[in-house]
Amino acid sequence: MNAVRRQDGELWMEGVRLTEVAERFGSPCYVYSRAAIESAWRAFDDALAGTEHLICYAVKANSNLAVLGILARLGSGFDIVSGGELARVLAAGGRPERVIFSGVGKGEEEIRAALAAGIRCFNVESEPELERLDAVAGGLGRRAPVSLRVNPDVDARTHPYISTGLKGNKFGIAHDRALAAYDLAASLPNLDVTGIDCHIGSQILDMAPLEEALERVLELAGALAVRGIPIRHVDLGGGLGIRYREEEEALDIGRWCRAVAARIAGTGFSLVLEPGRAIVGNAGALLSRVEYLKLDKGKRFAIVDASMSELIRPALYEAWHGIEPLATLDRPAADYDVVGPVCESADVLGTGRRLAIAPGDGIAILSAGAYGMVMSSNYNSRPRPAEVMVDGARSVQVRPRETVAALYAGERTLDQAAT
Ligand SMILES: *Cc1c(COP(=O)(O)O)cnc(C)c1O
Repeated sequence: MNAVRRQDGELWMEGVRLTEVAERFGSPCYVYSRAAIESAWRAFDDALAGTEHLICYAVKANSNLAVLGILARLGSGFDIVSGGELARVLAAGGRPERVIFSGVGKGEEEIRAALAAGIRCFNVESEPELERLDAVAGGLGRRAPVSLRVNPDVDARTHPYISTGLKGNKFGIAHDRALAAYDLAASLPNLDVTGIDCHIGSQILDMAPLEEALERVLELAGALAVRGIPIRHVDLGGGLGIRYREEEEALDIGRWCRAVAARIAGTGFSLVLEPGRAIVGNAGALLSRVEYLKLDKGKRFAIVDASMSELIRPALYEAWHGIEPLATLDRPAADYDVVGPVCESADVLGTGRRLAIAPGDGIAILSAGAYGMVMSSNYNSRPRPAEVMVDGARSVQVRPRETVAALYAGERTLDQAAT
């Protein structure tokens, strides 16, 4: 479900007009729908009602405390990739026993914090990480629950930058080394081997590679049981794709969950999933305003006040986001490249978009709830935008726009540092 709809010529999110959000909180600004986040999470939870499961929202997709708090209240688990994300989850009221810790480069401090908090599982990505985890746990007099992220070597058929399940990728333990890595894990005194996990990529729209990965993981789980290393849970990661444009078909969450549930029924495994984008992607939009319309060698540019600093996905992944005026107004329509003010040719939000707009008009960049604000930067000394949560007829600012002064508050010239 896309959280934004047009009604009487205006874009709305739940019971709020987006023009009103832009007027109240300024432009550019991120806006999210509580109802859309909750309904996306429930689509997973409902489809898995008959299966022992934990939905661990991938915090990196959108880590605003309001988003985490909404999910914590639903009873969600969380998939984190850093100590910073752990702190956010705890600050938002998430329960540590529902947290799993992914990522290839966990630092000692991060491991210590996660052990102290009592998280559910470490998703380990290499043999040296197993050894470090064992040593740190031993030092604290604790046992660390571990799952090994195996690389099932299947092609997720997505953009190469967000494909993670192929051989030669930095993520996971190669399929043919997995059993040996499990032997090592089982031999280390301060580790409890509890599960197996994989994550083959992001924005996957085709169920076939996910099914292939599931089969390979179940095969390994079977081999582990034979080896005397029984595991309790299977974690299939995230990566479920959403619809960014009309002609795309989103992965059917209910169908995928029911297929997995049917496949693992009778195995005795509980199921963990780590969706990020599928929970928040279509629940958010980036609001912006047209600054100038520029004609150059027959090409039309709409220069807007949002940029790759706020939303880098088009520049980084050639990602496509819908762009629509906040209000349908009487303007001549033309094809525009929608670009930001940042000094990079890559600073493009969309190309060849038919839009009826004039300077000063508000626009919405759609499906920007995932990997939007979290990947934003201050490049060109641009303050990060405000974030707003819509909840029914209310809109609540859940993070204020940064001030320019805050951008350099900790910096000193050499002269200032000397005094
Ligand atoms: C990024 C990531 C996810 C979430 O991916 P989505 O495509 O947003 O669902 C889940 N698990 C791991 C290990 C990840 O790196």
